[in-house]
Amino acid sequence: MKVLAFGAHPDDLEIGMGGTIARYTTRGHEVLMVVATVPNRREERVQEAEEAASILGADLVVMDVVPDELVFSRQLVRRFDQIYSGFGPDVVYTHSNNDSHQDHAAVTNAVIATTRKNDCSVYMYEQTIPGGIAPNPFRGQYYVDVSDTIMLKLDAIMAHRTQLDTYGPWWLEGVKGRAMYYGFKINVKYAEIFEVIKDIALW
Ligand SMILES: [Zn+2]
Repeated sequence: MKVLAFGAHPDDLEIGMGGTIARYTTRGHEVLMVVATVPNRREERVQEAEEAASILGADLVVMDVVPDELVFSRQLVRRFDQIYSGFGPDVVYTHSNNDSHQDHAAVTNAVIATTRKNDCSVYMYEQTIPGGIAPNPFRGQYYVDVSDTIMLKLDAIMAHRTQLDTYGPWWLEGVKGRAMYYGFKINVKYAEIFEVIKDIALW
């Protein structure tokens, strides 16, 4: 299976679905992580993102969109279209369309436009934390048991040293706590959840 995962910034994918990415790759599936923009310290943060992707066993594309130019536009959809057609995914992941960060929202609008006529499943991961408020509740319906890969997820987040310095160890505790909370709901240790935009049966 080929999995294409979009995040606005380096570290978004690790926080939102790092356990799921590692679960795919450790089971032999191919994952391509796409980062749309790097808001600051580009060189350092690209290196961190590369390290994190390699921990998760995924490939990585860091786009060169200028932060102030990351908007839902024909241009962004065209660029996502190119990545989509070049890779040919079975499954696509993106931010929640309720995410209150303007960059996350721009990416998701463009991903939904890119995938609207294609034969791939599309899922959204939860509001990135720490990430402020979301006006509407996240309605996660699709659960992934990440008990076996939670440590890879946490290691991948820790590869983003600039962010760990900024947000501190509670940040990581928060991410882990959220996975525990969702784990309880499906009777496993750790889980990640997703909202479904379209889910295509593969059987
Ligand atoms: Zn972000």
